[in-house]
Parts: sequence; structure tokens; C-alpha cells
Amino acid sequence: MSPVPDLRPTRAEVDAGAIARNVGRIAAAAGADVCAVVKADGYGHGAVTAARAALAGGATWLAVALVEEAAVLRDVGVTAPVLLLSEPTPAAIPHLLDLDLTPTVYAPAFVAALDAAARARGRRVAVHAKLDTGMGRVGAPPEDWPALLDAIAAAPGLALEGVETHLARADEPSAPTTGAQLARFAAGLAELRARGLAPRLLHVANTAGALVHGDAVRAAGAGLPDAAPLVRAGIGVYGLDPGGEVRAVDHGLEPALRLVSAVSFVKRIAAGTPVSYGHRWAAPVDGWLATVPVGYADGVPRALGGHGEALLGGRRRPVVGTVTMDQLLLWCGDDVPDVDDEVVLLGTQGEAHVAMGEWAAAAGTITYEVATGLGPRLPRVVVGAAG
Ligand SMILES: *Cc1c(COP(=O)(O)O)cnc(C)c1O
Repeated sequence: MSPVPDLRPTRAEVDAGAIARNVGRIAAAAGADVCAVVKADGYGHGAVTAARAALAGGATWLAVALVEEAAVLRDVGVTAPVLLLSEPTPAAIPHLLDLDLTPTVYAPAFVAALDAAARARGRRVAVHAKLDTGMGRVGAPPEDWPALLDAIAAAPGLALEGVETHLARADEPSAPTTGAQLARFAAGLAELRARGLAPRLLHVANTAGALVHGDAVRAAGAGLPDAAPLVRAGIGVYGLDPGGEVRAVDHGLEPALRLVSAVSFVKRIAAGTPVSYGHRWAAPVDGWLATVPVGYADGVPRALGGHGEALLGGRRRPVVGTVTMDQLLLWCGDDVPDVDDEVVLLGTQGEAHVAMGEWAAAAGTITYEVATGLGPRLPRVVVGAAG
């Protein structure tokens, strides 16, 4: 905790209402309940804010990558079911039991260790078994799937509540691999049927899957009549683009984050005057330059220099010269900026809007990396009510 209040004008405004509404829109589009993914500090929006808003918006589950992330939620009194998306190290098992988390399982050694720990406490822990249908990251490969199911069925400390997989190319609607992954998932469910195993939840789709692959959402649920689909939605909950081909705005999702600052210094410079590190830009004509106290240490990509725009006075202004750690420069031409004028780096000002996808394109990356790269020193201010 800093000994002084937030004094700089730079802040990320997080609209809890937008997060809540996005959950509702994703659920409606998918025809399924939403497990809101709030890993990586809620994709940079604040995990607790995101979790509370998503639950208010109707999410039935939350998901995180780490036990440590779940602990933050439990600590503030979040009691909703929390899915761990990957197996943690064995040392985390007592903690995940203490925190009443629902682990994703796939490795025989982890299943055995979790079963032993649960039985030692006289408990049964609900687990979701993960089949790797082609993501190639974590999950039991198809050849190990029958043995994993047998191990879970034989473990008195475990109860199979869900079965899941993860799509590698859901954001490319025409990628043929998605159909192949779904076929492998269907084959995996046949192994459950053969054993009389009846988990109540099946989840395959991330945001892109939920929005554009209804088949992924319902994935072979046909095979298990008592199971309901769930979608694990992250990026769309925040109103951000899952990928170039699947755009949040086309599905009625609203960006939940506005990055706001204010002009800290202004000056008129002569044509030809170079500015910032490396003198990579010089004024084309005489005109006004505004300094804004936000930089790459806050998560503004350095690549935005010469390629990005920010809003000042309701208009787009080019980010000129090299973006520095703590400050960047906006070219205003003949318009005279004033110290303290509001600057919107991301989001809406008047009629104008800058989308996080623009930053991602300028930096040669994806919205996920931009959002999770917003720095810890940027205050997150919650605006809007989740209802
Ligand atoms: C991060 C993650 C998600 C969420 O994906 P989005 O594209 O952000 O919706 C879903 N499932 C798993 C396994 C993940 O790791």
C-alpha cells in the first residue's frame, strides 16, 4: 500500500456493469451457463471486480489458472465454484482442498495424490477430467483417457463432476481442426458411457467457441443426456476481441475497460523539431504537442509510437515519437491542448473510440497480451454497477 493516495491522473476505469452484461450476452449466444475466467487478475481488470461482476451477471462458475489466484477470491468471500484450469504442483493440494476448489485433472500421479489427500480428510473432491483433443498443452492424450477414467472411477476420494477439452483454433471459424477436436471429444465421451460414468458438466468452448461454434458448446452432449454444457469464457467477458476473425463488437459485447489520463504538459514546436528517444519523429509543420503521463511501464506498448492514436478533445491524435516508460506524446497540430485535458488511451471519449484490438495490431500481438500487460501501478477504478 502506497503511503500517498493515487495522485497521477492515469487510471484504468473498469465497468462492472459491462462485465455483467457481457456474461449475459455470452450465455445467450452459447445457450449455456458461463464459467467466467478471471485468471491473470481478471485479464488485467482486477480479479475480484471481475469475479463479482460476472457472478452478478449470471455466471455460475469462475475459473483461474493458479491456486494463488483462487485464494484471492476466497479471501474476499467469493463462495461460487472455482475451477482450476490446470493441475498445480502436489504441494498445492492441501491448499486447493482448504479453499474448496475444483481441479482439472489429467496426470495419473496427480489423481493418486489428490485422492489420497481427500481420503485423509474423509472427503470426496469433485474433479473435471481433461482430454487433450488437439491443443497439445495439458490434458490426457486420447490413448491415456480410458486409464484416467478408470483411475478416477476407482478413487474413493474423487467424484467426476465434469469433462472438458480446449480448442486450439476456435477463433478461426473455418479451421478444420475444430471439427476433428470435437470428434475426438465425442469419442472420449463414448468411453464414459461404456463405464456408466455420468458427469453433470461438459465444457469445450472458450469465448470464440461460445460465440461461433454452437457445435463445440453442445459438443457431443448428445452422448451424455444428463450432462449440461458450460462455456469457459474469458476475453469476451471483458468485451475484447478473441481474435482477428471473431470480433467482440459483432457479438454485442462491450469493452469493460477505459484507460484514462490527462495532459501533463503542452508546448508549441517548430516544423522539423524532433522529439523523444532516438528522435524518431519530427514535427511536419509548426504545431502543438501534448505530453501524457502514461507509458510502457503501465502497459502501453512501446510499438504504439508512430502507429497508435489516443483521444483528446473528442478527436483521434497520433502518438508520436518513442513511447517512454512513464510518458508519451500526442501531436495536436493546430489544436491547442490544455494541461489537465482528459486523454483516453483506450475506450470512448465523446463520439470517438480506441479499441484494445488497435493496440494489439500495432504491437503485433493479441488483446489477451495487452490486457494482461496493463501494469500493476495503474490504479483500477471500478465504475458502473453490476446490478
Ligand atoms: C484462458 C482459458 C480460457 C478462456 O479463454 P478465452 O479465449 O479468454 O475465452 C478457457 N479455457 C482454458 C483452458 C483457458 O486456459
